[in-house]
Amino acid sequence: MNITDWKNLPFGYINTDYNVRCYYKDGKWGELEISSSEYIVMHMAATCLHYGQEAFEGMKAFRGKDGKIRVFRWKNNAKRMYDTAKGIKLAVVPEELFKKAIFTTIRLNERFVPPYGHGASLYIRPLLLGTGAEVGVKPSKEYMFMVFVTPVGPYFKSGFSPVDIMICRDFDRAAPLGTGCFKVGGNYAASLTSLELAHEKGFATTLYLDAKEKKYVDEAGPANFFGIKNNTYVTPESRSILPSITNMSLIDMCKDLGMKVERRPIPIEELPTFEEVGACGTAAVITPIRKIVDPVQNIFYDYCKDGKPGPVSTKLYNWLTSIQTGDAEDKFGWIEILD
Ligand SMILES: *Cc1c(COP(=O)(O)O)cnc(C)c1O
Repeated sequence: MNITDWKNLPFGYINTDYNVRCYYKDGKWGELEISSSEYIVMHMAATCLHYGQEAFEGMKAFRGKDGKIRVFRWKNNAKRMYDTAKGIKLAVVPEELFKKAIFTTIRLNERFVPPYGHGASLYIRPLLLGTGAEVGVKPSKEYMFMVFVTPVGPYFKSGFSPVDIMICRDFDRAAPLGTGCFKVGGNYAASLTSLELAHEKGFATTLYLDAKEKKYVDEAGPANFFGIKNNTYVTPESRSILPSITNMSLIDMCKDLGMKVERRPIPIEELPTFEEVGACGTAAVITPIRKIVDPVQNIFYDYCKDGKPGPVSTKLYNWLTSIQTGDAEDKFGWIEILD
């Protein structure tokens, strides 16, 4: 397939030329294999299918003005997949294998890395699956690690513009001591009912509260939450939140800008005191939040009285996306250029 309309690329799946696969058997990883098939063959009793023994990652590569391809913070994704593997008893993927897999896949699909200047990028999706046949509940002895890529446009068609979200009181995405801090598909399955309810009511996503007391802000759907007030960036401290690499990046940038940073529980009562709030993650970078609605208590907070994202969110968004495309200096050492 040939893409010509880079400007109107959706955020969705588009087939590319190749993906890579690697198999773990008898206690070790085999050689990386290149495939042009979009399908995988596995045993019907594979643990990933029955017991959710699977992990995934998501990161992006960008084409700069100079035509070079830049991969953003892949080492952090490698580390997070390692932590997830430890968390749900998958075979761990060594950093070297992770690197080889993503860089090989990008190189083989270079023609799908969107050109500079359309807000589009190449989304990289590593998957780690328990493939051994088990019916009893136990970790698989066999695994498959694979990486595919797909070119994506901006997450929101309107680009960087505010959305409304709804506080979710009837559902949790993860238990207090559960798997919320790991990037596993099961957390997403657990979020689908509440996400659909939010969509039906016209909201972009749900704002989850801590599952134990329902007093504190947890995650904003599939993204981390942050609030800004008094020159301070505040983001929740919680064991059930996925440690977002975008959030880590925003924290470093805020410190560099001379802002204070607080990672601590955020009580719901504090929400009205923020000057700006947003959600962050690889897909949308920053999603500015206009309104937070609590349907049970009929309360809502409006952070964008003029309908525009706030000044700090805008500055962070512009700076981060400029680092990613190479327009701004990579002062934090986040970029690896494909040679
Ligand atoms: C992937 C993910 C994020 C965002 O993490 P990034 O590393 O910034 O892409 C946030 N929350 C959840 C639940 C996620 O799965």
